[in-house]
Amino acid sequence: MQTFDFVVVGAGSAGCALAYRLSENPAHRVLLLEAGPRDWNPLIRLPVGEALTIGGAIDWKFKTEPENGLDGRALDAPRGKVLGGSSAINGQLYVRGHQGDFDEWESLGCPGWGYRDVLPYFRRAESWAGEPDQTRGTVGPLKTILGRYRTPLYEAFLNAGAEKGYKVVKDYNQGNTEGFAWAQFTQEHDRAKRCSSAHAYLNAAKGRKNLTVQTGCHVTALNVNGNTCSGLTYVRGGRTESVSAGEVILSAGAYQSPQILMLSGIGAASPLQSLGITPKHDLPGVGQNLQDHCGGLIQSRCLQTMTYHQFRNPLRALGAIWDLYVNARGPLSVFPMNAVAFVKSNEAEPRPDLEFLFFPVATDIQGGSNRYAAFNGYAITWGIMRPRSRGSVTLASADPFAKPVIRHNYLTDPHDVKVNNEGLRIARKLNSAKAFDAFRGEEVDPGVQCTTDAEISAYNRRTMGSHYHPSGSCRMGDDDMAVVDPSLRVRGLNGLRVADASIMPRVTSGNTNAPSIMIGERAADLILNG
Ligand SMILES: Cc1cc2nc3c(=O)[nH]c(=O)nc-3n(C[C@H](O)[C@H](O)[C@H](O)COP(=O)(O)OP(=O)(O)OC[C@H]3O[C@@H](n4cnc5c(N)ncnc54)[C@H](O)[C@@H]3O)c2cc1C
Repeated sequence: MQTFDFVVVGAGSAGCALAYRLSENPAHRVLLLEAGPRDWNPLIRLPVGEALTIGGAIDWKFKTEPENGLDGRALDAPRGKVLGGSSAINGQLYVRGHQGDFDEWESLGCPGWGYRDVLPYFRRAESWAGEPDQTRGTVGPLKTILGRYRTPLYEAFLNAGAEKGYKVVKDYNQGNTEGFAWAQFTQEHDRAKRCSSAHAYLNAAKGRKNLTVQTGCHVTALNVNGNTCSGLTYVRGGRTESVSAGEVILSAGAYQSPQILMLSGIGAASPLQSLGITPKHDLPGVGQNLQDHCGGLIQSRCLQTMTYHQFRNPLRALGAIWDLYVNARGPLSVFPMNAVAFVKSNEAEPRPDLEFLFFPVATDIQGGSNRYAAFNGYAITWGIMRPRSRGSVTLASADPFAKPVIRHNYLTDPHDVKVNNEGLRIARKLNSAKAFDAFRGEEVDPGVQCTTDAEISAYNRRTMGSHYHPSGSCRMGDDDMAVVDPSLRVRGLNGLRVADASIMPRVTSGNTNAPSIMIGERAADLILNG
C-alpha cells in the first residue's frame, strides 16, 4: 500500500488550493484524489460554460428531495465532477463575502476565522487585474478580473440603483459588499477563459514530483481504527484500492464530505446502524446545518434589440463568437450577469442580505425550465444571502455510489419568505427607475397583477431556484453539534480534517467559490503549522 503524508479527497475549489499549498514543500508527499476526469472538456474554459455543462458528464447531477416550501418541487443540485470541481462549471462570479460574515464565524466559536484572519488568504489566492487596493492580491494563482462585456442595459441597472438611493461602488470585494457594481469573475487576464481552481493551482504545480493527482478515483470509505484515521479506500476503474496517510483531508464539497464521513461510520449512530453501517464515531452534526442561497426573479420584455435574444440571429451569433475568440470580449466573454448589487432588505440588517444580479436575457420559467425564453427580455434576479432555513444531507443506503439524500427545506422559515418577497419588491422598484424607461416593456414574470404578499409568496414558491451554494453540513465550531474544530479537525478523531464549503458555520452573504478557495488556503497553514 502506498503511503503519503497528506491525502486530499476532491480536486474542487478548496481541494486544489489545499493540495497546491501542502506540496509547496518538496519534503511532503501529497496525493489528490478526484472522482471525475481530467478537465480536458473544452466547454469548461468557455465563460458561458455553466449553461452547457450542467446536467452533462462532468456534473454529479444530484437532485433535492421534493421541497415542502416550494410546492413539492425537487430542484437540480449540480456539482462539478472533474478536476476543478464546481469551480469548473460555475458562473465564475468572484465574491469574497462581507467582512461581517467572517467576524460572525469567529463569534460562533471559531477563533482564527475573523475577517482580519481570513483576509491574508483571500489575498494570497488571487491575482486581481483591476484597480489595486491593499485588500486585493496581485501574485496568487487565481486570476480575477472585471467582466468584459458592457451594454446600456447593464448600465441601466447600475443607474437604477443610484436613482433609487443606493451606492454605486467600484469594488465590492474590499470587505464591505454593499452597493451596486460591475461584476468580477475568475477568468484569465489575457484571454476570456474560465480560471477554475484546477487551472489556477494544479497547472501552477505541474512538475512537482511530490504531488500526485489521480482522477477517476471514487473514495468509498475512510480507514478508521479506534480514534485514528490512517488512510482510505477508493474505487478506480472497478478496482478497489487503499492508501495510507499521515493525514486525510476531505474536500469533497458540502454534499459529499458528510456522505463520506457517514459511509465510514462517522455521524449520528442510530441512522447509520439502521442502514447496516457500523458506527465508529458518534458525531450527530454530520450532514446537518445544510444551507444554500435561493431566490427569484422578475422579467420584462425589452423594447430594444439589446438582449441575448438577438444572438438567435446566426449572423449576430457568429459576430459574438468572433468577438470572443479574436478580441476576448463581447457577450460570450462573461456568464451574462455582469452587474451585481448587495442590498439590505431593511435598514435594521447589519449588512446586505440580498444579492441582485442583472441578466440581459430572459429564462423560460413559465415553461418550468432553465432554458432561455423565446422573447426579447431581461431579468432582475435576487438571492437571499442569510437564510434561516436549515436542511440536511443523509444517506439513502450504505452503497457509496448511491446519491446522497439532500433536503434544503428552502423557504420553510418565515423570515426567508419575507426577505424573498422583499427581493421581488426591490427588483420592481429598480425596474421602475427612469434608467429603464427606454428599455422596459411589459412585466412578463410574475406580471403586474401579482401584488399581495400571498400572491408574491405563491409566485416565489412556484419559480424560486437555488444559487447552487450548499454549505455548512460539516459545521466548524466548539459545541456538541459541530463536526470540525477551528483547526478543521474532525472532533474526537486524529488524522482527519474537512476543508471545503461544508465547514462554514453560516453561509457567507455572497457567492461561495472565493470563500471555499480561501478555506483551502487557510487549511494548508493550519495543517502545516500544527
Ligand atoms: C452551476 C454552479 C454555478 C455556480 N456559480 C457560482 C459563481 O458564479 N460564483 C461563486 O462564487 N460560486 C458559484 N457556485 C458555487 C461554488 O462553485 C461552490 O461553492 C464551490 O465550488 C464549492 O467548493 P468545494 O471545494 O466545497 O466543492 P467542489 O468544488 O464541488 O469540489 C468537490 C470535489 O470533490 C469531488 N468528489 C466528491 N465526492 C468524491 C468522492 N467520493 N471521491 C473523490 N472525489 C469526490 C468532486 O468531484 C469535486 O471535484 C456555483 C456552483 C455551481 C454548481
